[in-house]
Amino acid sequence: MKVIEKYNDSLHNPYWKYQLGPESYEVKDTPRRVESIKNALHADDRFEFITAKQFPDRMITRLHPYHDYILNTAASLTKDDEEFYPDLFPGEGAHLTRKSDAPLWGGVWCTDAVTPIMKKTYEVARASAETALSGAELIRDGAEKTVYSLCRPSGHHAGPRVFGGYCYFNNAATAAEFLLPSGKVAILDIDYHHGNGTQEFFEEHKSVFTASIHCDPEFEYPYFWGYADETGKGQAEGTNLNEPLPKDTKLAEYMQALERILDKFSEFAPAYLIVAAGFDTHQSDPIGGFQLLTEDYAQIGRRISQLGVPTLICQEGGYNTDVLGECVRTFLSGFMES
Ligand SMILES: [Zn+2]
Repeated sequence: MKVIEKYNDSLHNPYWKYQLGPESYEVKDTPRRVESIKNALHADDRFEFITAKQFPDRMITRLHPYHDYILNTAASLTKDDEEFYPDLFPGEGAHLTRKSDAPLWGGVWCTDAVTPIMKKTYEVARASAETALSGAELIRDGAEKTVYSLCRPSGHHAGPRVFGGYCYFNNAATAAEFLLPSGKVAILDIDYHHGNGTQEFFEEHKSVFTASIHCDPEFEYPYFWGYADETGKGQAEGTNLNEPLPKDTKLAEYMQALERILDKFSEFAPAYLIVAAGFDTHQSDPIGGFQLLTEDYAQIGRRISQLGVPTLICQEGGYNTDVLGECVRTFLSGFMES
């Protein structure tokens, strides 16, 4: 299986200065996550690493109105370890015609104070989106049946209005836009957290079916999205399916939710499938609260692959770097078995 990657992302390495201090570092979005995945896949000769291509600006800018804010804020920082967090959230009705002063717009474009911009954030986020685009191109051209794009930062909380939740550009949504002229797209989000950004991108778009299995937002981020009654809007009514599950969910219950989604996908008959694959559903994840075991991902991967649709897998969350790489390898192995 082809694995798409871009380049060393170690300079987007937030210290999360507003959070718990150094001890919180290990449970956040550290570059060590990518190391864990690369080590596991490099040790298995069924995986072939290739470098992502560059894509034109418009592939990123047309989806993300906050593109220039991220670009300009990153460019305004002088030190590699500096972190910019918005601290002013002007809210609805604010006078947004003021002359741009990039960092000041943070509270317009970003939902929270846990998604910092660093000097290299733009470059790294763009590379992550290009990693997804490169994978999408391979499946669109029929060169590959299943491709894994090793994206970091994640993308699924970044939406058409705002970004946040450690996400800057929505990698899966960018890939879906790229694939759409060639056929309908289904997006399955299996991260522990609801893919609110991805849902919002396509909730009025009947050619994209979005589905997400996640912890009930009653108890978990993103709290304000991810409920079962969000089913799509207008002409796209019926093309969004949320499966919020309780904390401590184990494989059996998880697979039932997956079956319900795959039934809908079969009816929808997509030309392409994108899996937003987070592994913070693992029982040992420091952020997530599900009870999936490493070996469970083989069954999940195998079952998804039985849909028989060309598939792009984009990396999302997963924060236990001791097991993340093996979870990814096991999941992808499930795809290769069927
Ligand atoms: Zn997550």
